[in-house]
Amino acid sequence: MLIERRVDFTHGYRMRCENCGAGNWLSADEYAGSPDAMMVCSECKEDFQFGRRVIELRDPDDAALGDSMLPQPAWYHTTTHPEWPPASKPLSDQEIRHYRAGLPPEEFERRRQVDENQALHIGTYEAALESMLRRMTEQDDRQSAFYLHRVRLGHGLQIEPGYRDENKVPAAKITSTTLADEGVDVIRYVNAYESMGSISLAVVRGAIESTQMIALPLPRLVTKPSNLTTEQIQTFRADVRSIRSKHAIGAADSLKSPTPLDRLRQRAYERPGGPPLLEPNEAYKVLRDMADFVADQYLDGVSPVIRDDFLHALHRPEPADGDEVDLAWLSKFIGLAALLTRPDEVQQLLSARPWRAVTA
Ligand SMILES: [Zn+2]
Repeated sequence: MLIERRVDFTHGYRMRCENCGAGNWLSADEYAGSPDAMMVCSECKEDFQFGRRVIELRDPDDAALGDSMLPQPAWYHTTTHPEWPPASKPLSDQEIRHYRAGLPPEEFERRRQVDENQALHIGTYEAALESMLRRMTEQDDRQSAFYLHRVRLGHGLQIEPGYRDENKVPAAKITSTTLADEGVDVIRYVNAYESMGSISLAVVRGAIESTQMIALPLPRLVTKPSNLTTEQIQTFRADVRSIRSKHAIGAADSLKSPTPLDRLRQRAYERPGGPPLLEPNEAYKVLRDMADFVADQYLDGVSPVIRDDFLHALHRPEPADGDEVDLAWLSKFIGLAALLTRPDEVQQLLSARPWRAVTA
């Protein structure tokens, strides 16, 4: 019987003071609200900069720290592969071309060994979902289909004692070969990226007994009665439409005789994903308000840090988009937000799925 740990998307962080080494608690509100990422140490009273670099284990009583407890909780992973973990992970033709072009032959071979033998990474429910958000933001996976896997570990595993600090020793990039050389199936590490401060595991494939999988987002959770009334949605769409047409007229006008400022503005808006260099114009403001409004409705109870990550990953519609894009965006937003706000239902859906044995 797998144990489900309490899912918490409101958590704060423990930061290590750079001067005296003391752990300092920082709430998610303080994290998100700090303009310069500085905090005062409660021990030595010195200022220090907080962030991933000085993240500490969030919960010193985490059940996963006990060797006999470690296989008992459910572990999670998100990926674009419906069947995970794959038996082997050869580099794609594109990656081979890319590496060959940039590396001498011996270095290419070494790189291939490392990349093709990456250990598998599993973590808490929160870490798995934050990992998906990060991939959607950073790795051109915004439009990819993602899958959530629930993982059951095997028994009799060789577990490295204690945990690693991802900032100090290799953990996130470790290979299965290295784990095998060190005689372990599992290492724990404090995740400095996803659900910062939580325990994640790097494991060899043989450590995983079986998995359950669901495709994301979950249509069943989208079709439930929404918090937004039809009227609210109509009003918003009308607002956005009207602003869009004004924007289109403005853009056409400025093309007739663009001023240097127009050109600068246009360049700023054309940067993919980047925030405009100049004050956002009206169209951007309305779209940002729309995203914030929807986030208020659907990410209730989610910390401002994770809410920001979510909004970045979803990337709101552009002024040049239309109604259809807005609706697709809204539907995706609602479906993915449900993963954060209704984890119990997600876990029930997973429970209805068959376990797939991971065999050699
Ligand atoms: Zn200190």
